[in-house]
Amino acid sequence: MTHEEIRQALMTGCSEEELMAFGCPVCGGQASFHVHPRGKGFVIRCVSDTRHMHMSDANLSPPDGWAKYVEHGTWLS
Ligand SMILES: [Zn+2]
Repeated sequence: MTHEEIRQALMTGCSEEELMAFGCPVCGGQASFHVHPRGKGFVIRCVSDTRHMHMSDANLSPPDGWAKYVEHGTWLS
């Protein structure tokens, strides 16, 4: 998947299986996914190099499965 395809999938809601399958579009490595404490904003980035991928956006109706990716205390806003 390309960066834009990953962004679109996350913004429109994808299954947890799809979410887990996302890798870095550049190196194919692991991607890490984080959700804002309010539950709508997200960040996805490449674990090995954020220059490969580091995207943030929002899903206004986030899937239930996102709750476990919520991170507290690591957001500036
Ligand atoms: Zn990468």
